[in-house]
Amino acid sequence: MNIPVFDLHCDTALALFEHNDRPEKQLRQNDCHIDLERAGKLAGYCQCFACFTTPFMQKWMNVSAETVFEKELEVLQKGLSENQDLIRQAFTAADVEENLKNGMMSAVFTIEGPAGFGFDPARLEALYQQGFRITSLGWNEQNPLAGSHVTGGGLTDLGREYIKEAQRLGMIIDVSHISDEAFWNIMDVTQAPVIATHSNSRAVCNHSRNLTDDMFLAICKTGGVAGFNMCDDFVGTAPDLNTCCDHFLHFMELDPEGKHIALGGDLDGVETLPNGVTGVESYPDLADALLARGLSEENLHNIYWKNALGVMKRCCI
Ligand SMILES: [Zn+2]
Repeated sequence: MNIPVFDLHCDTALALFEHNDRPEKQLRQNDCHIDLERAGKLAGYCQCFACFTTPFMQKWMNVSAETVFEKELEVLQKGLSENQDLIRQAFTAADVEENLKNGMMSAVFTIEGPAGFGFDPARLEALYQQGFRITSLGWNEQNPLAGSHVTGGGLTDLGREYIKEAQRLGMIIDVSHISDEAFWNIMDVTQAPVIATHSNSRAVCNHSRNLTDDMFLAICKTGGVAGFNMCDDFVGTAPDLNTCCDHFLHFMELDPEGKHIALGGDLDGVETLPNGVTGVESYPDLADALLARGLSEENLHNIYWKNALGVMKRCCI
């Protein structure tokens, strides 16, 4: 079933930045997981494009996280300005709806790891003005804001300040990558819906990047959503489309109306995808697999589009 797709997370900006000099690696058409030619065949498309940074980048790439952040943003802005016939940046949910109505795709800028601007809450306001609407508190490192799922460790005072400032502006807090301890610290202080842009069910696939049932229920209680991640390590052992469905069906047991489940493919951020998934073009196949497993068309419209859009509507001014 080909229905509009609202995907809460991808790493296409980094993938394109790393190969920016190659003409075959452009937003419009490439051999990565996401390009506009393939996404344009979907019935509608809103992609959250993350600018991903971690302090580890200095070691990995010999470039500072600050520089990578600037370059990723540049790649996105260049991709949007070169493809104005296909896609527009969205600042609000109303922009996303307007673009869909006009046959345009939408791009929403998001932050995965604030290393790119020194974990400084004072920088959020300018970023909000540039269109950043979702922020995580880090990647797999322990940082000045919080511990990660790899390191453990809770939310710091600066982390609390960061959340307060993000939520004051109308930027959505993303708990993907964070430690369990920091997750619960966030639940104690949040004043707005919290989302996990790209995290699956730990009951289905026991990985620290996934959410326990209690964590998923806590996200539901805030009015947030969890976006389904296509990374095979977080889906299961030798996963296929049916294994992907297991995560949705498990979350549906906890959230019978399916109002808190969304998509966050992590496309271009992962090496290996489940069998039957090749990239953004696979979302209709996943929808067919979910229909075959008993989800209704209404469930699918909510999961694929309305739930994520609804959070944006309630949080982003
Ligand atoms: Zn990630």
